[in-house]
Amino acid sequence: MKDAYDVIVVGGGPSGAVAARFAAEGGASVLLIEKRQEVGDPIRCAEGVGTGDLDKYLDIEDRWIAAPIKGATIYVPGAAPIKMRAKDENQIYGYILERKIFDRALVERAAKAGVEVYTKTSATGLIMKDGRVAGVKIKRLGEEKEVMANVVIGADGVESKVGRWGGINTTLKPADIETGVQYLMTGIDIDEDNVEFFMGSEYAPGGYVWIFPKGKGRANVGIGLLGSKIKEGGRPIDFLNRFVESRFPNGKIIEMNYDGVPVSGGIDKIYGAGLMLVGDAAQLSDPITGGGIKHGLWSGELAGRNAAEAVASGDFSEKSMKKYQKAWEEKGGKIMSRDLILKNYYIDMSDEEATKVAQAVEGVDFTGVLDVSQLVKILAKVDKKLLLKLGANQ
Ligand code: FAD
Repeated sequence: MKDAYDVIVVGGGPSGAVAARFAAEGGASVLLIEKRQEVGDPIRCAEGVGTGDLDKYLDIEDRWIAAPIKGATIYVPGAAPIKMRAKDENQIYGYILERKIFDRALVERAAKAGVEVYTKTSATGLIMKDGRVAGVKIKRLGEEKEVMANVVIGADGVESKVGRWGGINTTLKPADIETGVQYLMTGIDIDEDNVEFFMGSEYAPGGYVWIFPKGKGRANVGIGLLGSKIKEGGRPIDFLNRFVESRFPNGKIIEMNYDGVPVSGGIDKIYGAGLMLVGDAAQLSDPITGGGIKHGLWSGELAGRNAAEAVASGDFSEKSMKKYQKAWEEKGGKIMSRDLILKNYYIDMSDEEATKVAQAVEGVDFTGVLDVSQLVKILAKVDKKLLLKLGANQ
């Protein structure tokens, strides 16, 4: 490890790996540090992602795909299931990943672009100079070291400290964080190319239970519960256990993971002089779905590109870093603000109201409805309250 780089990225998840890669491809010397021994392990994710522009970040390879997804079913108590399916039976619109392999492949891609990667290496603080971030205090195998950099990218996930060290307010209120608990199960009867969601307070107050298939008889079965709703009826794991016992009484749990998912809609300011935050560190996961992989990739790319431009121009001021926030808002701002409205609408909704909306769309053909935007358009037609809340955000 050298004593100085143009850019240091803290955190080797999808956001950090992509940020590092794009900074290096833009000509910067880049160090990527990851506190864990292995990138991507243990996973803290249900591993679902839309196909979208994924191939921009990695060549699509079977080795990191656990299951291609062709449909989704939403269950609301008291109403018929909402079944979404592509028009063309061969169309794949999402993947359940093997994140242990996917995350590593993204880091490999960064290394190929020239990034220096160190695992088992933690950031313990930031070095400040002349009112801006100027490097990272690092601990590696018991040794402490100060490494200088003109730009630091905080990609340290939901537990992010980099933002706080850099003077950014990263506090999360209980209503802004979902607790996710998940089992990897085998020996269960599931649709191998269809994801399932279970809504309503019986399953998950203010959240949902998911079944994401991972091949024959195997799936991620998990729950996301809003922090502010956790008092109503027990801990997330109690809800998950009840679901698993009734749905998969003979299934076997072979892995468990849990973590927080920020659903705040993003931090107001995700930069400082010489500093940018990406992915979960900037709370950029989607407020309604909790999905953060895609937004991590997008924000990582934008921050990486901006870092390279700053290095080329020699401008590491707040104004220079702010260009990243502007680019993020153009790319993901509209989705984030719409999905924050959806989240607040959903958590305020009673079970009776949810059932009424689901009943009102009984008989609607959801074939070809493949994402939140399309689903919301249909729901807003039968639910005036939702229509009103969304206003211009539809
Ligand atoms: P992370 O993947 O969390 O990576 C951050 C990295 O930083 C970690 O490797 C960590 O070890 C490292 N780090 C932290 N502190 C330091 C430090 N001081 N020094 C060095 N390294 C450090 N999203 C989806 O899109 N689809 C899903 O199906 C989905 N399901 C989920 C289910 C659950 C139960 C949970 C908890 C989350 C789920 N998410 C899902 C969210 C998704 O996992 C995150 O949004 C995504 O991992 C964010 O990527 P990231 O790179 O920003 O952060």
